[in-house]
Amino acid sequence: MGVNLADISREIKEQISIFTAKSSVVEAGTVIGVGDGIARIQGLHSAKSGELLTLASGVRAIALNLEADSIGAAIMGSDAQVKEGDIVYGTGRPAEVPVGDAMLGRIVNAIGQAIDNKGIIDTDKTRQIMRTAPGVITRKEVSVPLQTGIKAIDVLVPIGRGQRELIIGDRQTGKTAICIDTIINQKDENVLCIYVAIGQKASTVARIAETLQNANALQYTTIVAATASESVSLQYIAPYVGCAIAEEWMEAGKDVLIIYDDLSKHAVAYRTISLLLRRPPGREAYPGDIFYVHSQLLERAACMSDEYGGGSITALPVIETLEGDISAYISTNVISITDGQIYLETELFNDGVRPAINPGFSVSRVGGAAQVSAMRRISGPLRIELAQYRELASFVQFGSDLSADTLERLNKGERIVEILKQAQFRPMTIEKQVLILYVLTKDHLMDIPLNVVRRFEREFLRFMDNNHGDIVKEIRESNDMTDQMEERIEAAIDEFKRLHWKND
Ligand code: ATP
Ligand code: MG
Repeated sequence: MGVNLADISREIKEQISIFTAKSSVVEAGTVIGVGDGIARIQGLHSAKSGELLTLASGVRAIALNLEADSIGAAIMGSDAQVKEGDIVYGTGRPAEVPVGDAMLGRIVNAIGQAIDNKGIIDTDKTRQIMRTAPGVITRKEVSVPLQTGIKAIDVLVPIGRGQRELIIGDRQTGKTAICIDTIINQKDENVLCIYVAIGQKASTVARIAETLQNANALQYTTIVAATASESVSLQYIAPYVGCAIAEEWMEAGKDVLIIYDDLSKHAVAYRTISLLLRRPPGREAYPGDIFYVHSQLLERAACMSDEYGGGSITALPVIETLEGDISAYISTNVISITDGQIYLETELFNDGVRPAINPGFSVSRVGGAAQVSAMRRISGPLRIELAQYRELASFVQFGSDLSADTLERLNKGERIVEILKQAQFRPMTIEKQVLILYVLTKDHLMDIPLNVVRRFEREFLRFMDNNHGDIVKEIRESNDMTDQMEERIEAAIDEFKRLHWKND
């Protein structure tokens, strides 16, 4: 039986045509220097920026600087386990973190590992840490309010879901307190929260976790912590890790609030990395791309259009200023990236005006559109009266005979300031805010001595709950204030003042 050569050659040709090479070459490099959380690696010629690298000891790193003869990588973990001569492998994949609902109620480090002694996090979902922000066509305008429960913010600088609002102020002015209160207020708002702690003391982060736990707020919150004792690399990537966790939920159509506390320390961490990588320093020794680093992060906050699920990420970045100087490099950068800022002042804080928000310097460029109509009706006049009061008050310091009109305005202004004060951990529902601000703007507090205004507020709101729950409920459900409703509130105020209130 003769073998048909033609058949054999056809067969061979066929086999060759369907053969696809599946060789995989794992590229390896060598550590040629290590220090301060940064490794210098030689030999990984095809590594990409942002690629995850594995070191022989099992430690991971992220490729940052790609140079002709070497690459600089940020070590994700302790650099004590990395030494010169170690072998490094590229993975061909970008760095990822675990995400998903299993992250709720957990405290993780900057590589997404649990650090709360509650066991490993049971999730098989992961996401890329560094990602480009959603494009314009996938977004829609901010239109739903994010209630902070803090009167001074919800009235004067309202925040909308999907907005980026900067919290800026000197140290110890109540920046973190605003963020934590806002998280606590999301309990019935269906907003998932992420608190990213960057370069803070471990004890501070532990206290924040405890506070959230006690307020039953940890169950819908994830804390991502890169404390001051951890490497600058971890401090640098922590916000991106938090953002990746947020994006998973946003893409599932949920509303997310993320807090970056704070981006000043993040900028310092990035500056340290850049100097270690010998990138040329610019203004205040920050590298030239620090603006890009922050805008890239904050652009990932978004309000997605309905076709893209309708989810949102609201971002509250925090910046610490020195001596109230908001014109420093990092502050001006972040002010220009965000949609407004809440400016906190040491002087106000020390005067007992807490939260120490300076209404003159604080703005919200998009949140007004998201305010509920009952609130919008009140907030416009209040803003103007408060501004007039502040202007008058600065003149009156010089003392002189005051006209009746001036006195009246000063009295009103003092009462506005008094009502906008609010204790920590006491977020107020929007209907209660509307009620007390109604009382204020309609001049029903003018005959109440200043030192008992806050007691009046407490007692009046309790009275409304107990005796006029229907009004409270109606404002909550309609978010509106009709003329007929105003009449009922007027009657209730009259009743309270006549039968329940004593000035002393
Ligand atoms: P740091 O610069 O250290 O991060 P910070 O600006 O974040 O400080 P917080 O830690 O929030 O400030 O607050 C400083 C102190 O002021 C805390 O002791 C806090 O309890 C107190 N505080 C903050 N807000 C209020 C408030 N509304 N009423 C009373 N006390 C407050
Ligand atoms: Mg703080």
